[in-house]
Amino acid sequence: MPDRTIYLDHAATTALDTRVLDAMLPYLTMEYGNASSIYTLGRHAMQAIDSAREQVADILNSRPTEITFTGCGSESDNLAIKGIAFASQKKGNHIITTPIEHHAVLYTCQYLERFGFKTTYIPVDSYAQVDPDDVGRAITDQTILVSVMYANNEVGTIEPVAEIGRICRAKKIPFHIDAVQAGGSLPLDVAALNADLLSLSAHKFYGPKGVGILYARQGMRLLPQLQGGSQERGRRAGTENVAGIVGAAAAFRLAYEELPQIQPRIIALRDRLIDGLLAISGSQLTGHSTNRLANNASFCFEGVEGESILLNLDLLGVAASTGSACTSGSVDPSHVLVAMGIPVEVAHGSLRLTLGKNNTVADVDVILSAVPGIIEKLRGLRG
Ligand SMILES: *Cc1c(COP(=O)(O)O)cnc(C)c1O
Repeated sequence: MPDRTIYLDHAATTALDTRVLDAMLPYLTMEYGNASSIYTLGRHAMQAIDSAREQVADILNSRPTEITFTGCGSESDNLAIKGIAFASQKKGNHIITTPIEHHAVLYTCQYLERFGFKTTYIPVDSYAQVDPDDVGRAITDQTILVSVMYANNEVGTIEPVAEIGRICRAKKIPFHIDAVQAGGSLPLDVAALNADLLSLSAHKFYGPKGVGILYARQGMRLLPQLQGGSQERGRRAGTENVAGIVGAAAAFRLAYEELPQIQPRIIALRDRLIDGLLAISGSQLTGHSTNRLANNASFCFEGVEGESILLNLDLLGVAASTGSACTSGSVDPSHVLVAMGIPVEVAHGSLRLTLGKNNTVADVDVILSAVPGIIEKLRGLRG
């Protein structure tokens, strides 16, 4: 076993920053009060949540009352989409989204179809880009919600969300952005993005797992999806995860404070990976060549299975992904790559490498020296 994991799967999750852990620790130990209690210990918890909410609102250029803390990015997506859909049934039943969304969005739309809602999936081009005018043309008098991701978690393509938001705003249609993959990396001013709802998840930016954030613009009518206490202004029942919320805000703040130092270094590592791996014959970059997340290098290699590459990399202590969330044993290729028009055989050979702030040139060079041989070996095995 190699003594250190070379972690190149930051799109899946990130390690908790130790400074974030330090900010959380008091709320896991001495400051254990329930934020709904009126005595001092409870008030301390509520003050910590209020402060976290202000910090998050500040980065989003929003009001604290527009921020709801949830249990994960998936819950934020579910609350945004189901919350709007079930609160808007008198207005219409039509939802617009794309075929490259995370399953937290796609499966939520499919679930709503059981209740009479209809979904239009706006096609994407071969770089996974959505054309905002296609969204505008799909809007009908029944449309109650448009949901488009900020950046794709598999191939890293950044979507023209501000322009889509402008079109939706002009037609008074609520616009939800799944910004989970963009959080900590792309600008998140909700006014500039013309966003009405926006989802984030702390564990994607060096915060704790189990904390999501949902921005919902003032005036958005959302039907709560968890009934019980009146926490989170009645939008999400359940005793607050105080330590997690404190950690989410601390991580969010650190991510944007340090972005100017970290981002250029990550882009250089990404481009080194891309240049190096595209030298392999039968390889292609997936997603847009420039309009992509700073940390995402994703590829397809003809004539190999992505899972086989991963197993070979794992033997070298490298943690990577095929990009698709499908469970092992599944024969379906990524829905994102298929939507981009990549042939199914080619889509099976996908590899996603997503960098983080602790990766080094040496990490990248391990990949560049290992992957060509792995691909050659796997192609040889197929005969
Ligand atoms: C990770 C991710 C999610 C889900 O977030 P969780 O906190 O893991 O539930 C949703 N959308 C996108 C784009 C993601 O990358």
